[in-house]
Amino acid sequence: MSNLIVSMTFDDALDSHLDIAVPMLEERGFHGTFFVNLNAQSFVGRFSEWQTIAKKGHELGNHTIFHPAISAKSYISEGNALENYSLDRMLIELKTANQLLFAIDGRQERTFAYPCSNPILGQPGMAKRLLRQSGLERTRIAGWVYKFPFLDVFSREKNYSCLLPELFYTARGGGFGNRSKIIEKNDRYFVPCVCADGLKAAQLQENLNRFRKEGNWLVFMFHGIGSGHHLVCEHPDFGYLLDKLSDDRGISVLPFLQAARMLWGKNADA
Ligand SMILES: [Zn+2]
Repeated sequence: MSNLIVSMTFDDALDSHLDIAVPMLEERGFHGTFFVNLNAQSFVGRFSEWQTIAKKGHELGNHTIFHPAISAKSYISEGNALENYSLDRMLIELKTANQLLFAIDGRQERTFAYPCSNPILGQPGMAKRLLRQSGLERTRIAGWVYKFPFLDVFSREKNYSCLLPELFYTARGGGFGNRSKIIEKNDRYFVPCVCADGLKAAQLQENLNRFRKEGNWLVFMFHGIGSGHHLVCEHPDFGYLLDKLSDDRGISVLPFLQAARMLWGKNADA
């Protein structure tokens, strides 16, 4: 009987997922979860291959259509800046992405990963805007504004995680920070993960050891594997992790949805 579930999740629909990650997973009999933004170049250009991997048992998760993020990021323009999104705008995008994913893989139940692990949309207030304009976003004053949102006067920011329960079984959020490694029921729409971008074999092993002792569900988040993204887990390090997972009989490697179902059952609301 295994006592740790591990989910391998991959963001942004990259060529290296199809070319490197999928064959390496399949060599060991594993299935991954691919959180795809539907406008990704590889997704549009290699559509039938994404459909094929879904048929083979890999999971396609919703990662929006346009991958909205804060306007300070270099690839963001007015149309996909989170500051310009309303809850309704996001709801329309998430629903449409779900419908298109259903047309691709025929699956009714879907999972989600927040682009950039950021659940906040809408215009920030005066304090945050001033801090951003003056480059003081990473200072102690900014820390206070983020800790006590009422200080950000005239803020129209909202957390869009409230939209998720009607659309998704579960959703992946950001890192663990200093919190416990146990995933609980109230994490269901912001399941913490370990960001594996840039981690070497020894660090991946360290995470495995820690979760083997203290955790119940270890979710890895990857972007590029070997190449194709500024965030990359190198090919040999990724292979090392897969070998360790495959050698350890106390670990089950499951797609994100299947793992969440194992943890919370079909009717997890009860
Ligand atoms: Zn992403």
